[in-house]
Amino acid sequence: MTKFKSLGLNDTLLQAITDMGFETPSAIQEKAIPILLEKDTDLVALAQTGTGKTAAFGFPMLQKIDVASRTTQGLILSPTRELCLQITNEIKSYGKYEKGLNVVAVYGGASIQDQARQIQRGAQIIVATPGRMKDMISRRMIDISKIEYCVLDEADEMLNMGFYEDITEILSYSPDDKSTWLFSATMPREVATIAKKFMHDPVEITVGSANVGSSQVSHEYYLVNARDRYATLKRLADAQPDIFSVIFCRTKRDTQKVAENLIEDGYNAAAIHGDLSQNQRDMVMNSFRKRQIQMLVATDVAARGIDVDDITHVINYQLPDEIETYTHRSGRTGRAGKTGVSMVIVSKSEVRKISSIEKKIQKKFEKKEIPSGDQICE
Ligand code: ADP
Ligand code: MG
Repeated sequence: MTKFKSLGLNDTLLQAITDMGFETPSAIQEKAIPILLEKDTDLVALAQTGTGKTAAFGFPMLQKIDVASRTTQGLILSPTRELCLQITNEIKSYGKYEKGLNVVAVYGGASIQDQARQIQRGAQIIVATPGRMKDMISRRMIDISKIEYCVLDEADEMLNMGFYEDITEILSYSPDDKSTWLFSATMPREVATIAKKFMHDPVEITVGSANVGSSQVSHEYYLVNARDRYATLKRLADAQPDIFSVIFCRTKRDTQKVAENLIEDGYNAAAIHGDLSQNQRDMVMNSFRKRQIQMLVATDVAARGIDVDDITHVINYQLPDEIETYTHRSGRTGRAGKTGVSMVIVSKSEVRKISSIEKKIQKKFEKKEIPSGDQICE
């Protein structure tokens, strides 16, 4: 706690941090918070998922805005609706002692009128997905001409999802002298371009891949015939009756199919992907958070950034094309100091991908045998 205090955070924030049970700042928080508190500067921060980025920008933003004013002063753009809601809730709990604070989530698939009404009441901070945000600005439901702080969260992912133009348009309605804080797990060329275009002389910080509370993820792979993928998945689940996991597939179709098969075979599973309505997605996420669902079968996009505590296993039903996507996937487990396992089901034709992943993540995979029926009965 004294460590948080020495970063320059005020007493009301420190009280909320105590309530949340945070003991020491994570590496990215330790680096970013003093810089952002001390002066109004642009910032580019690179850190993997699960390193506590929300607080790294959330604490300074809360300390710097004026809650006595109803003007929108902070804007946080994030790639998905789920993340948008998650960040909103997180910022609300950090700011629970800031009297008069109003944080509003703006995202597609929910009533635009409701969101507009909430904003009319005066939102100092708006957390938004780019699509809906652009829409509401052009309909004059949101005015960001006075914002002082703008966060581009998961910038790499927003660009991957094709939000470059929406972001450009949104920012064109914001003042030039605001501070822009860009957070990203990776720095592909597109992110560098956006940093160059929208930022002035940003301070750059990078932290290694250590997650909050030095968590531990071990990596395993199971080499199988492609046609035995599903049977393998069932074996893995049977061997871990208390499994609480996210299972990644490559396409919406596979995601739906695997979830349907699991349900049919009596497992406690559900699918989450972009073909579901927002309502359905919210319901699935809520049940998963409450652990009413043990196995969430997901596409990469739908699962992006989902921060659910205590996920025991990430299962790569199929490997992704990009190694970075693998890092994002395995970062769903082993969060906040917990241990977790990332399992990969691979066929012969893909097994060489394992060694390229090992090189990239600087960790060895353990080759495991599929649990046999006997082992499961033990
Ligand atoms: P990221 O955005 O980098 O993926 P999050 O901000 O979602 O990470 O944080 C990951 C998890 O770690 C959250 O559950 C958050 O509440 C928790 N967390 C953040 N900072 C700390 C801290 N200093 N100590 C303990 N837990 C923390
Ligand atoms: Mg995040």
